[in-house]
Amino acid sequence: MKTYVCKNCGYIETKEELESDYVCPKCNALKDSFEVFHENLAENEIDAIVDSVIEDAIESNKPSKIVNEKEEEKSIRISEYNTAITRIPEKCINCGQCKKTCENIVNLRYDLNKCKEPICIGCGQCILNCPTGALVPKYEYKEVKEILDANEKIVVAIISPAVRVSIGESFGLEPGVNSEKKLVSALKQLGFDFVYDTAFGADLTVLEEAAEFIERLQNKKALPQFTSCCPAWVKYAEIYHPELLDNLSTCKSPIGMQCAIIKSYFCEKKGFDPSKIVTVAITPCTAKKMEAREYTLNIDHVLTASELELLLKEEEIKLPELEDRDFDQLMGESSGAGVIFGSSGGVCESILRTLNKILTNKNLTKDELRFEELEGFEGIKEASILIGKYKVKVAVVQQMENLEKILENNYYKQFHLIEVMNCKGGCIGGGGQPLCQIPKLDEYREKRSKGLFEIDKKRAVRSAHDNAEIKLLYKEYLKNPMSEKSFELLHTSYTDKSNLLNNK
Ligand code: SF4
Ligand code: SF4
Repeated sequence: MKTYVCKNCGYIETKEELESDYVCPKCNALKDSFEVFHENLAENEIDAIVDSVIEDAIESNKPSKIVNEKEEEKSIRISEYNTAITRIPEKCINCGQCKKTCENIVNLRYDLNKCKEPICIGCGQCILNCPTGALVPKYEYKEVKEILDANEKIVVAIISPAVRVSIGESFGLEPGVNSEKKLVSALKQLGFDFVYDTAFGADLTVLEEAAEFIERLQNKKALPQFTSCCPAWVKYAEIYHPELLDNLSTCKSPIGMQCAIIKSYFCEKKGFDPSKIVTVAITPCTAKKMEAREYTLNIDHVLTASELELLLKEEEIKLPELEDRDFDQLMGESSGAGVIFGSSGGVCESILRTLNKILTNKNLTKDELRFEELEGFEGIKEASILIGKYKVKVAVVQQMENLEKILENNYYKQFHLIEVMNCKGGCIGGGGQPLCQIPKLDEYREKRSKGLFEIDKKRAVRSAHDNAEIKLLYKEYLKNPMSEKSFELLHTSYTDKSNLLNNK
């Protein structure tokens, strides 16, 4: 079976082949307006996947962690107010894979008899594991296209690190191939006025998070400091672990920071009225849609890599054939540290590079820049790093099940800095990435991660504090990390949302 999408109205059809006289039931477009979105698996293959792919995680003898109201409903319930994902009901075969993913891989637990709405942290892992393509991101790409076509606004795109190593897959390239320069061309062709690199926002996050860490150390504030760039983890903490909120870095995520800078510094420099600006973050992550709607001002739209794939194909833009083009200047430069943010361990590694400079006044040598014990796909990775006279104990955690493990018996309290990402492999494994066959997910994650570390290796600038455009931003505008201006634009606060578990 194949999933076809109508390029005219977005209607999705599942069939072996579309008949020659097929007409879109929604907009009456002819067969030629449809293209294959992705190939689905045969039903016997679906059964095999349901039985095997997450075998380790299916604790069949244990009671369900997510209690549905109705026994026969195997699929996960999705609220109509969900800002990250949605379901196309006619494509759902009630196989239950999404619920198993959510409760056993994402580790959510709740009782729908007690909650007003189903709990969702927006991660999109159910999308990646749905065998029929019934689950999709909450699409915004048509709205963005309309804004671009109207040509009344200044539309600024920012591209997350993990998208550059996955988007090529949608056009027949291998996972891990760096398409960043072709992406710039593609977005310019779509009509974006400025195209910037979210790895710049990641560099900014490194400087703020490193400064916050030092401030916590000096003022004996709550440690360990947990990273806060993964919005799915932030929401999980707010709902299930409000006791950790003081430990959560107050830094906004890279897209939150960069969009705030676009609406302030960028507008001042260019003489633009901020109300004329539309920011569009292109991310590997569905939870970023939730972040934009529920947490952070200034991010006007979030397009997942999978949505961008649809948009480019609708516009018949063939990415691999485009010429290479550089990011625009002002927020287009990024260090290797900013790029590896997209892979598990990358955030900690980037902060350590900058902490070393702050605490010893020296840059790490080329051979010292990598902390390989923090990279890779282990659920919990630990390291003790000597920085000058300080021994910094660091942990990197991926997936909430492992977060629960590190919290057991207060084990986490021995660390100073903990990176947490909801998705396996970090952002490269995000729920907004282009779809691939479910059994190949791990292989794709590994290749994308390798791709990011390859980019880091080739970058002339490897540490966030050496990014010349970041230096200029502080010199001209923010002054210092954690300055009053930085705090106003780049930091945030969190709310105890544990009441969502019991609010009927
Ligand atoms: S995984 Fe997809 S097809 Fe299966 S129940 Fe969930 S939404 Fe339906
Ligand atoms: S997006 Fe994540 S949290 Fe929400 S239903 Fe899907 S797997 Fe569960």
